[in-house]
Amino acid sequence: MADLQPVRGTHDILADDFRLHRHVCDRAAALAARHGFQEMTPPIFEFTEVFSRTLGETSDVVTKEMYTFEDRGGDSITLRPEFTAGIARAFMSNGLAQEAPLKLFARGPVFRHERPQKGRLRQFHQIDVEILGVPGAQADIEVLALAHHVLEELGVARDVSLSLNTLGDMPSRLAYRETLIAYLTPFKADLSEDSRQRLERNPMRIFDSKDAGDQKIMAEAPLLQDHLNDASRAFFDEVKSGLDTLGIAYRVDPRLVRGLDYYTHTAFEFITDTLGAQGTVLAGGRYDGLMEMMGGRPTPGIGWAAGVERLAMMIGAPPAAERPIVVIPLGDDAQTPAMKVAIDLRRSGHTVDMGYSGNLKRRMARADKANAKAVLILGSDELARGMATLRNMETGTQSDVPLNDLVETLKFHF
Ligand code: ATP
Ligand code: MG
Repeated sequence: MADLQPVRGTHDILADDFRLHRHVCDRAAALAARHGFQEMTPPIFEFTEVFSRTLGETSDVVTKEMYTFEDRGGDSITLRPEFTAGIARAFMSNGLAQEAPLKLFARGPVFRHERPQKGRLRQFHQIDVEILGVPGAQADIEVLALAHHVLEELGVARDVSLSLNTLGDMPSRLAYRETLIAYLTPFKADLSEDSRQRLERNPMRIFDSKDAGDQKIMAEAPLLQDHLNDASRAFFDEVKSGLDTLGIAYRVDPRLVRGLDYYTHTAFEFITDTLGAQGTVLAGGRYDGLMEMMGGRPTPGIGWAAGVERLAMMIGAPPAAERPIVVIPLGDDAQTPAMKVAIDLRRSGHTVDMGYSGNLKRRMARADKANAKAVLILGSDELARGMATLRNMETGTQSDVPLNDLVETLKFHF
């Protein structure tokens, strides 16, 4: 049983953490719904090609991080390392082009074989947003507005900043690619192994390198923004002016590229300096080439994903659990009637817990620790009279209440 430890890079999300985790996911889901997004979910695993063909052969995710295995039928399967490719696959499998434009929200676990450290896990969770079938900048502005709104509602907007860039359309990128290769070729021997590989296949990706030597070389590299065609420049201007209108602050970072191959035009990251090295909490971009790359009809798309654990770390304290009413039966005769009282109260909408075992003092202490708003004491004698003792834990006052009137009394008081 390998020491009863969870697998490296995975963790148990225990009750307090889970409340915080769910708070992040539920707030995001509720806001996404308010912004007109529909929740859906692709499977947790897919055929490997769904990811390997789309994320790009040179991306870190594909070269190093995927959890890939052969299943019993001999198919190569991969645990999803992100949502977008699976959602794009689902869009095509289900003929959703009919329903486009579509605004989708998803949440759940994703898997990457990374070196575990603070804010970097092998099983982590994402909330994810996609707009499929809208070619214009209004979709870029809309997903950014939702991102900002989610961060605001979670109370972390002040601790993040938005970095924005454009990767241009394909003609701009192809023209720029030649310029970049010409600049980098003399440095070839100085580049990291990974970046030497990228030089041939996707040189822009070298901007994303975490290697200090590469970063030094890239600091002087020509920038795409100086090679954008008019259409790409106009698109980016529209995104920026949309953000200005909405009052969403951003900084243009001409070196921001995204880790995956399928991006065009808008790329963005919300970054914080409160989490140390793992500072990107939410990231995304436009991926107009993705569906075609997967063998489907060209369909524009834009979206983002945020790391739930990183957001949770920024928030820190979990929201308070709901305050229960604790039912305490005293004596054997009271156990079953107490269960009946508890279930009746639950049916009428109250959160009710049972105060088990120990003397009354210990049970009261436990009810207090559970932050109970009220305790209902059921002794055999009282029960025989059809009564119970209700203690308001807020005020400390105690009163006798008839059992047949309990639901009404509690409705009145709590
Ligand atoms: P990083 O540069 O930190 O590796 P990334 O570019 O690989 O991030 P994305 O693929 O854009 O990340 O994923 C979106 C978000 O998911 C990130 O902004 C981050 O909040 C979160 N995330 C990514 N990888 C991990 C991980 N290994 N553990 C926890 N959260 C992660
Ligand atoms: Mg990564």
